Amino acid sequence: MLNSGGRKTVHLLGEIVVTGPKSLIAGNWKMHRGGAHGVALAKAVLAAASKETLACDLLLCPPAVVLAAVSHVVDGTDIATGGQDCHAENTGAHTGDISASMLAGAGATYVIVGHSERRTDHRETDADVRAKAEAAQKIGMTAIICIGETGAERDSGQTLAVLSRQIAGSVPAGATAAHTVIAYEPVWAIGTGRTPTVAEVAEAHAHIRKELGGKVDDPDSVRILYGGSVKADNARELLAVANVNGALVGGASLDAASFVAIARTAP
Ligand code: PEP
Repeated sequence: MLNSGGRKTVHLLGEIVVTGPKSLIAGNWKMHRGGAHGVALAKAVLAAASKETLACDLLLCPPAVVLAAVSHVVDGTDIATGGQDCHAENTGAHTGDISASMLAGAGATYVIVGHSERRTDHRETDADVRAKAEAAQKIGMTAIICIGETGAERDSGQTLAVLSRQIAGSVPAGATAAHTVIAYEPVWAIGTGRTPTVAEVAEAHAHIRKELGGKVDDPDSVRILYGGSVKADNARELLAVANVNGALVGGASLDAASFVAIARTAP
């Protein structure tokens, strides 16, 4: 079965060596698998994950309409659930929106904020993302704060500057490592089948780690996920990169066998 929480430990000749945060493999189902299809996918992930010992934590982020049902399926197991977005306020006249406390009421302990699809489709700014992260953290949830450059920004050599600006604007001041996850998702890699090179991932993640210093209480403990076209056949290489502490998986998380196959490669 799965391990849960805390820092990853490696046993060497009877000695316990702490090597950094334990990997988190998170599935972002986006606007897929509502209703019975979502429940079936959660049951399939649970069945597949229960057959083996995984070195990572697992997280399912289904559409909000099926979040409570998915949380019920994994209740009492090591698999966590999360929302895909939340409002910055706890309650109020915001038709169609969902607050962090409502997500928590549906069993979620995580929420994704600032995904590039929301930054684009809903014109969310860094300040919007920070307010959402703050709302979630205030009630004890963990915010997965997404950042990443567009293809044009990478081509013009602005990647690290964009990441610095997004961290400065999107990560709440005084955030704790326990309630903060960063997802580095190059926009041009999402859903395209293209990924950065290992060297490019290493450079971006090292930069993110450095920039978290001064923003988060214990920057070395923050999990920094890579996201963008992670599949079973490239996961091992991506997850082995320094400062990569897991993956945010879109398309491949819609198939239980693929999602667990990715999780199996986590160091
Ligand atoms: C995502 O949207 O967060 C994502 C990483 O998608 P995909 O894995 O399909 O590229």
